[in-house]
Amino acid sequence: MNESRKRTEELKIAEGVAGSEHGSMADLVRAMIAMVGEDPQREGLRRTPERFERALRYLTSGYHQDPQKILNNAVFSVGYDQMVVVKDIELFSLCEHHMLPFLGKCHVAYLPDKKVVGLSKIPRLVNMYSRRLQIQERLTSQIAEAIQTCIQPLGVGVVIEARHLCMVMRGVEKQHSEAVTSAMLGAFRENQRTREEFLSLIARRAT
Ligand SMILES: [Zn+2]
Repeated sequence: MNESRKRTEELKIAEGVAGSEHGSMADLVRAMIAMVGEDPQREGLRRTPERFERALRYLTSGYHQDPQKILNNAVFSVGYDQMVVVKDIELFSLCEHHMLPFLGKCHVAYLPDKKVVGLSKIPRLVNMYSRRLQIQERLTSQIAEAIQTCIQPLGVGVVIEARHLCMVMRGVEKQHSEAVTSAMLGAFRENQRTREEFLSLIARRAT
């Protein structure tokens, strides 16, 4: 196929998609499969657009959830005033620049001020914000701020270590390198000892 004819066909596909008001996400994916040079009707690909749509809707379902609803029904009053740490929370998200996965671990800590939140709610909060198109820095601070808003602790610390497939797969980054981001609020920002206690608790190896 010569270049200009190929162009015309691609345009036709694009117009067909943009032109149909009721074109579903699966139809868009079918067009994308054709655009990369595959046959969307090939047996193995025939139901791929619907599968992809279901997967993408699930992976972006965090837009329809309210973080405070997740946390609020599990807030308890306590006398406990030591650091609460939930570490090694598995994290999977999609980068907003390439819509490719980034994955790794999230560590969350806070210093309670009369209130704590059920431990299982922290991973749920991490999942909720992960199921949006994200950049790692914003994901990190959204998690910290949601906890701050909900139980107003003396401070919150969040650290995310993640590998971005958009970089790894395209060879932009060495295969095992990780991006590390942190958000420190209140005592975690102001008090070096609090911050160091958190960082030493989440360190992979004790020295
Ligand atoms: Zn990316």
